[in-house]
Amino acid sequence: MASGTIVKGIGGFYYVKTENDSVYECRARGKFRKDKVTPLVGDIVEISVIDEEKKKGSLDIIFQRKNELLRPRVSNVDQAVIVFAAKSPAINTELLNRFIILAEQQHLDVIICINKIDISDEKFYGEIVDVYKNANFDVIPISAEKRINIDKLAQKLYGRISVFAGPSGVGKSSLLNAVDPSLKLNTGQISTKIERGKHTTRHAELMEISNSGYIVDSPGFTSLFLEDISKEELQNYYREFAPFVGKCRFSGCSHVHEPQCSVKEHVGREISHMRYESYVSIYNELNNERKK
Ligand code: GDP
Ligand code: ZN
Repeated sequence: MASGTIVKGIGGFYYVKTENDSVYECRARGKFRKDKVTPLVGDIVEISVIDEEKKKGSLDIIFQRKNELLRPRVSNVDQAVIVFAAKSPAINTELLNRFIILAEQQHLDVIICINKIDISDEKFYGEIVDVYKNANFDVIPISAEKRINIDKLAQKLYGRISVFAGPSGVGKSSLLNAVDPSLKLNTGQISTKIERGKHTTRHAELMEISNSGYIVDSPGFTSLFLEDISKEELQNYYREFAPFVGKCRFSGCSHVHEPQCSVKEHVGREISHMRYESYVSIYNELNNERKK
């Protein structure tokens, strides 16, 4: 018996990395199929070794999952590293807020990286950094190019399973290369990266970084549709609302149009205008979808 993590799954084979750093090719026991349980990349499992020399095993036990992401299909992801660039391309806060909602919905910790600070001035990106810091997010202004704060990011990745998310061109691959140069990920070549994306969405894979953590090798949250989110639960994904939710005049307050709303009363104070407006706009969007 040995325990480990499924780092890859292809055609009914599961590749399990064990604590002593070996990778075993395993078939899942029949009982999983019978119980309709599909092993997932990220699963913490117990295997029995069938052939030590050929590194073959049998997957016997899947331990309870902390969570399960649909796209990419992986389990036990600890955190989302959401990357935007201070400049080229400019930060799209609307998109950033949507990435955050997806991460919060999956109960992932959130780390926001504002990359390429070497080509921008703090007076341009500093305000955005403050908005998210004040909303209780971990924000790292960073530069892959000039290696600013790379050690901070590396520390955050230590011992955890992380998924990188963000638009293309913001420097996700560059940041990963900066953390672990042996990864040698392609950067700046959109076409070849799309190929890689296509390949990996079918087979999500965990990539080990400098022996210290795992990265989900796939484009991150590929879909930005906020499916399966009800307008009522949206407030839970704006963490800075939490102290005020439940303190409004009306129970079930949407914080959009009701009077004596505790959330609205704190806009411009603990809650930034930008984040509140984003909430209202997405709330209305979800509301309209429902009516269709
Ligand atoms: P990805 O699509 O998010 O993986 O982005 P890439 O890592 O491929 O980077 C896109 C482009 O931005 C490349 O041309 C990189 O050289 C450039 N880039 C990445 N990080 C930085 C940075 O910190 N500063 C500057 N000036 N350019 C960067
Ligand atoms: Zn309210």
